[in-house]
Amino acid sequence: MSVVKGKNFINGKWIDSHSGETFESRSPANQDEVLGIFPRSNAQDVDEAVRAARKAFPAWRAVSRIKRGEVFDNFVQMVKKDHEDLSRLMARECGKAINESRADLTEGIHMAQYVFGMTRMPAGDVIASEIAEKDATMRRHPKGVVAAITPWNFPFAIPLWLLGPSLVEGNTAVFKPSEDTPLMGQKIIEYLERAGIPPGVVNLVQGDGEGAGRPLVAHPEVDVVAFTGSYDAGSEIRKVCAASPHKFAVCEMGGKNAVIVFDDADFQIALNASLLSAYKTTGQRCVSSGKLIVHESLYAKFCEEFVKLSKRVSVGDPLNEKTFMGPLINDAGRKKMEYYNDLARKEGGRVLFEGGPLTGKEYGRGAFVSPFVYQMDYDPKFRVLREEVFAPNVAIVPFCTIDEAIQIYNDTDYGLALAVITEDYRKAWRLREECEYGLGYVNLPSIGAEVHLPFGGVKKSGTGMPSAATLIDAVTHRTAWTVNHAAEIKMAQGLKAQIE
Ligand code: NAD
Repeated sequence: MSVVKGKNFINGKWIDSHSGETFESRSPANQDEVLGIFPRSNAQDVDEAVRAARKAFPAWRAVSRIKRGEVFDNFVQMVKKDHEDLSRLMARECGKAINESRADLTEGIHMAQYVFGMTRMPAGDVIASEIAEKDATMRRHPKGVVAAITPWNFPFAIPLWLLGPSLVEGNTAVFKPSEDTPLMGQKIIEYLERAGIPPGVVNLVQGDGEGAGRPLVAHPEVDVVAFTGSYDAGSEIRKVCAASPHKFAVCEMGGKNAVIVFDDADFQIALNASLLSAYKTTGQRCVSSGKLIVHESLYAKFCEEFVKLSKRVSVGDPLNEKTFMGPLINDAGRKKMEYYNDLARKEGGRVLFEGGPLTGKEYGRGAFVSPFVYQMDYDPKFRVLREEVFAPNVAIVPFCTIDEAIQIYNDTDYGLALAVITEDYRKAWRLREECEYGLGYVNLPSIGAEVHLPFGGVKKSGTGMPSAATLIDAVTHRTAWTVNHAAEIKMAQGLKAQIE
């Protein structure tokens, strides 16, 4: 494949950055392979993009909601035709196994279908009034310019989660994809352009968090920052937005998730759910579980069988249909995993499978790793049980009572995803009530989103306005509109309306 010469997309034109600088997108499975060269945007590019979005806002807002939605219908038709090519491109650009890349594409399509379908659903509510002759309605108004800043690990689905509801509700947007997946970011905008989105309604600025992300968040003409990524970046963004008189931040961030296996669990479901939770996307999902909390009665057998399965996990070329784990996204990801593998040892972990960096043959040109699995008794001091590793670093922790299981799960600053493996609905119910999470699963892995369900977390994981339906609340104002049909003024709460 030839190297793509990427551009920014501002006011309907594909242009270079004022910085004159570029950066490369290389395949994490083969760092010698350059997929594209992209503009390294600066504050001037960001300013142009935000101004274009601001200028396009009144006209876009005035377009019928149904017509705005039709852009996404066109988008879906085109993306469906190219589904396989785009999936393969994603596997190459972010290293996700091909089956997972296909699912990412499909999820993005589902989000576009959701927002298209939504445009023929009610756009507000009719609300009762104390006065019979009053009609009161709640209508949602778009907020203005949305900055959509996204991570690399779902380079198609997450941008659609953020851009779909924002644009369909009549906002305009500036999209900054991850610097690790600029090509997928460019593809999304190419398809939206072909689908008929007017100039200025969606703009693309490529670049990193420092050069492009920060000025975008700080820009006074941005009304909403819709961010998905790490807690460190998200917490900075929230502070910047809080200091502005009008800017709203909706942030979905990291996780330290767990699978809890009870003594009555179906053992095969427990093993499979744990494996999928720990190793899909090479442990680089916000909902990946690096903590398997297992009842002591099953503990020895579970450890033995889980390690056997972990040793069978196929690591390699993401385009190979048999690959379960592609590489980590980059060398920094591998160094981070090595740091936490060492920390697990220092904090008393008993290593069961000495995984880690793989070298030689097909592994030589990417950050390939095998799983690292260890036993660990719970202690609130152990950081490795509380912090996000974002790699296949897996602690298996024993518990005795349900109270202990809940404590071990909750003992982290994050609160994103939880899987419970049990046949006893009463145990599942207690966890549903007492654990801190945004996504709970019973007899399933801790991964597996569907776009029409809420997706987001609590504590350091999120600000509670996740994808789809609830993102609409973040990108719109709810307004009240009240009309009097009586021949005179009548007021609520018994307030006198006569002028004496
Ligand atoms: P990251 O925070 O490094 O980057 C995310 C995006 O933010 C990128 O586009 C980056 O350029 C930009 N950015 C970084 N610093 C910024 C700043 N100061 N101001 C503005 N923009 C900035 O995250 P990543 O490595 O791309 O993704 C991994 C992280 O994302 C993990 O923590 C993972 O758990 C999280 N994640 C969360 C969800 C969720 O829905 N909760 C989903 C996927 C990933």
